[in-house]
Amino acid sequence: MQTFAYERPATLAEAVALLEAHGPDARVLAGGTDLVIRLRDGSARPRVVIDVKRIAELSPTIREHEGIVTIGATTVMTDLADSKLVRRLFEALAEAAAVVGSVQIRNRATLAGNICNASPAADTAPPLLVYGAVVVATGPQGTRRIPISEFFVRSGVTTLERSELVVAVELPVPTSRTGAAHLRRTRRRGHDLASVTVCCSVDANGVTRLSYGSVGPRPVLTVDETGVLADPTAADAAKAPILERMFADASPSKRSMRASPEYRLAMLRVLGSRAVRTAIERLASDAPVEE
Ligand SMILES: Cc1cc2nc3c(=O)[nH]c(=O)nc-3n(C[C@H](O)[C@H](O)[C@H](O)COP(=O)(O)OP(=O)(O)OC[C@H]3O[C@@H](n4cnc5c(N)ncnc54)[C@H](O)[C@@H]3O)c2cc1C
Repeated sequence: MQTFAYERPATLAEAVALLEAHGPDARVLAGGTDLVIRLRDGSARPRVVIDVKRIAELSPTIREHEGIVTIGATTVMTDLADSKLVRRLFEALAEAAAVVGSVQIRNRATLAGNICNASPAADTAPPLLVYGAVVVATGPQGTRRIPISEFFVRSGVTTLERSELVVAVELPVPTSRTGAAHLRRTRRRGHDLASVTVCCSVDANGVTRLSYGSVGPRPVLTVDETGVLADPTAADAAKAPILERMFADASPSKRSMRASPEYRLAMLRVLGSRAVRTAIERLASDAPVEE
C-alpha cells in the first residue's frame, strides 16, 4: 500500500478546502469498505485520504421535514435497514440496505459511499432510482442537488465534481400509496455482490417504476404509465411485452467473472417479474411496518 496523509476535518468547509487543495491526489474516506480494499490492492493511490465521519453536516441522521426524508451522508446500511421511517416509506431501500455484505460491512458501509463508488452492482442504486432520490453535493461553488437519475455515469464514475462531497441523500415522501420490493441474485449465499439487483414500485395511480443494476455500466430506471403492469388482474401475456421493453437497456458485460450475459438477462426477467408481483401484493395489503 502506498503511504498517504490522513486528514480528519471537523467541518464541511475544511473538507471541501482539502479536496480543492489536493485535487486528484485526494480521496474521501467514509466507511472504507470499498476504498480500503482499493488502497490495499493499489488500484487507488491517493496522497491524502480525507475521513469525513467527524463532519457534523454529514452526520448519520435520518429525518423527515416538509415531505422530504433526508439521509445524512455517513448513515450506514444497518441504520437504514432498521429505521422505522425508511421501512414505512421506502421499504425497498430498507430491504436493499439489509442485504449489503455482512453484519460487519453493514455497520461500516455508508449510503453515500455506496453511490459514490458507483458500482453497477450497488444494491441501493435501484431503490434510490425508483424513489426519485436527489443527491445533495457541496463543493467550492456551493451546494447543488443532483437527481439520482443523472448521477451515475459508469463503474466508478459519477457526475460529482472532483472537489464535491455528498452531504446527504433526499427522498420525496410518496404522495400516493405505494408498494415496492427489492430483489437480487448473487452467485452464492453469504456476502457477495449482486449478479442482478432489481427494484420495483407500483403506486395507486397505476404507475410502475422498475430499476435494475449489475446488467450494464450503470443502473437503469424505466417507468410504465399504461397501468397494465400495475393491474393485478391483467394477464401475464399483456405484461410480458411491456417488461421486455423495460429490460431493453440491459447490456451485461461479456468479461465479468460473476455471471454470463445470458444468465444475467434470464435472471433479470425472473426477478423483474417477481418484483412487480411483490410490489402489487404489498400495495394491496398495505401492511403497517412492525413497531
Ligand atoms: C465483503 C464486502 C461485501 C460487499 N457487499 C456488498 C453488497 O452486497 N452490495 C453492495 O451494494 N455493496 C457491497 N459492498 C461494497 C460496499 O460495502 C458499499 O459500496 C459501501 O456502501 C461503500 O460505503 P463506504 O462508506 O464503505 O465507502 P468508502 O469505501 O469509504 O468509499 C467508497 C467511495 O465513495 C467515495 N465517497 C464516500 N463517501 C463520500 C462522500 N460523502 N462524498 C463523496 N465521495 C464519497 C470514496 O472516496 C470512495 O471512492 C461490499 C464490500 C465488501 C468489502
